[in-house]
This record gives sequence, C-alpha cells and structure tokens, in this order.
Amino acid sequence: MRKNKIILLLFFIVFGSIQLAFSQNKKLPNVKILATGGTIAGSASSATSSSYSAGQVGIQTMINAVQGIKELANVSGEQVSNVGSQDMSIEIWLNLANRINELLASDDVDGIVVTHGTDTQEETAYFLSLVVKSDKPVVTTGSMRSSTSISAEGPLNLYNAVAIAASKEAIGKGVLVTLNDEIHSPRDVSKMNTTNVGSFSAPIKGIMGGVFYGRLGFFREPTTKFGNTSEFSTKGLTTLPRVDIIYAYADMASDLIDIHVKAGAKGIVIAGVGNGNMTEDTLKAIKKSYEERGVIVVRSRRVATGWVLRDNEFKDDDYHTIASHDLNPAKSRILLMLALSKGKKLSEIQELFYTY
Ligand code: ASP
Repeated sequence: MRKNKIILLLFFIVFGSIQLAFSQNKKLPNVKILATGGTIAGSASSATSSSYSAGQVGIQTMINAVQGIKELANVSGEQVSNVGSQDMSIEIWLNLANRINELLASDDVDGIVVTHGTDTQEETAYFLSLVVKSDKPVVTTGSMRSSTSISAEGPLNLYNAVAIAASKEAIGKGVLVTLNDEIHSPRDVSKMNTTNVGSFSAPIKGIMGGVFYGRLGFFREPTTKFGNTSEFSTKGLTTLPRVDIIYAYADMASDLIDIHVKAGAKGIVIAGVGNGNMTEDTLKAIKKSYEERGVIVVRSRRVATGWVLRDNEFKDDDYHTIASHDLNPAKSRILLMLALSKGKKLSEIQELFYTY
C-alpha cells in the first residue's frame, strides 16, 4: 500500500515537471496580464441580454477563454481589482502603475497587458503612459460586450493585446490601447460611442497601428512625451491633488467655481463650450480663485474633438487660464493632477499641455 503511494507521488513529480517544462516555453516572451475588471470580465444572465454586471469573471477564467493565447507568449495573470471602470480610482492607478514598474524592471517579464473597462480606459492608459518607466510594451484592452454575450469580442481583443505586448514592434512605443483590431496612443484615443464595438477612435491624429488575429503593424509613432522621458512618476505618491471637471453650458452659473474650490479642488478643468469657452462671469470667478487661492484652471472642451487654442476669443493671461491643446477634459485632469503633485507653477503648466 505504502509502495503504491510512493510510486504515485513519483509519477506526479515527474509528470508535473514535464508539464511545467512545456508550459514555460523558453522561446516565447513572458507576458503578464493584470486584470482590473470591466465589461471584458462582465457577465449577464443570458447571451442576448443588454444588461450585465461588469467585473465578475477572474483573470484565469478570462485567459482560459482565449484559444491559442499560450502560443503567443508564456502568459500569467494577476487580479489587481475587479471593478467596472466607472469605479476606477487614484488608489488603483497608483497600485497598478507601481506594480507595472516593478514587473517590468524584472528580466522575467517582457510585456504587460492590462484588462480594463472601456468607460475610463483612456484615462488609465494616459496616466500609465506618463508614469511607467520602461521601453517594454504595456497594452490596455477591454470589450464592449460582456464575456457571456453572443459574439463577445473580449477574447480576440485579449489575444491581440498579448500579441502586441509580446512583439518587438511595440518596444519603445509607450503604453498602447487595443480594441477592435486597432492600436491607439492613449493621448489620442477616446471612447466615442456608448455601445458599439468600434467605439474607440482617435479623431484628431488617427490610429497608430492595426492588429489582425495577432499579426500587427504600426503606421506612426506617438507625437508627445511619455515613459522614460516623462518627468512624472508615482514614486512616493499616496494620492494626487484634487482636480474637478465642470461641464459648461449656456447661462452657466459662476458660483460653480466657488463650490468646487470650497470642496477642496486645487485645480479645475472646464469642459468648455466650443473652443473652451464659458460665461464671462465664470471667467471672472476663475481669475479670483487663482488670485486669492492659487487654483489652476484648464480650459478644455465639451465638443468631442478639436484643439482648444490659447488666446482664442480672449487672452488667457487676463484670467490666468491654461488651454488644454488637444487633451479632452478627463485627460487634462490627469495631466493637471500630476503637474500639481510636482508643485508646478501656472507659468510652467501651459507648456506641459503641448509636451505631454
Ligand atoms: N462600464 C463598463 C466599464 O467601464 C463598460 C465597459 O467596460 O465596456 O467597466
């Protein structure tokens, strides 16, 4: 009886080592998948239901659902969070960025994939692009349809993301976003449609590349600073200064500025009408809040696309405002939070919006 047990144990040890040798194919790159939740990890009660819950499925189940993924890379997963990305937080951003920097510093990791909800994916990807210090690829992906949906596109998006993260072509290109066979730069990409699988696009600068069942190519380079050349980092940060976004509209009330300042905002981004505009009274309130409290205000746009130009319908210096250039409000907020975390002055911040 005892002899049988020893034979069984030996069998498992030998068989286990052979399996490990096969599953850790040394020639393949090592790609780590960090899962944060989202619809890609969502599930519904039926394959044709439009209502579902995001962030339900664990990373190992997601990996197992992707046929052929193990032929692209030695993949392993880690669950960083499991939230709908409407609940993405600064705390998760800092943990995620620190974990990515730690993993990429190791010779055992060649690339990273981050699975993420689509609602705030552009924000997370842009944040990471400014604070990840490595040339190795980091690729974010998600899906518009939940994992239990008919024609769920998450598995192919994840397959493509791993192919990009494992590729030589993606080295040195900073953080990338892939969905629907497209490769995007985080600064340029936005979610443009609430439900469509082709929701992500980069209306000002266009896509960076394409990926088709793992075969990929790039058409252009990122146009602004990122990664190793970025002056921003998460070292020593436990949070970021509060920056709020205010949506502008006809007859906008100027006391909104005071309300946000009183609530603790150190910076404000205005999603302005047209070319970053707002009522004259709001501009006066902004001028006062800078002169009395040092609150920095960036003019972005509520319009889906286009540049916000400095000194367009008035002189920005007259109201101490910053023009967001081509950054949308959500990404302007990230750049302003990072700038304030470094103690940047009003006079230095405009240049950052052209540089990053
Ligand atoms: N609300 C979901 C999320 O952002 C939507 C999605 O992932 O498509 O997590």
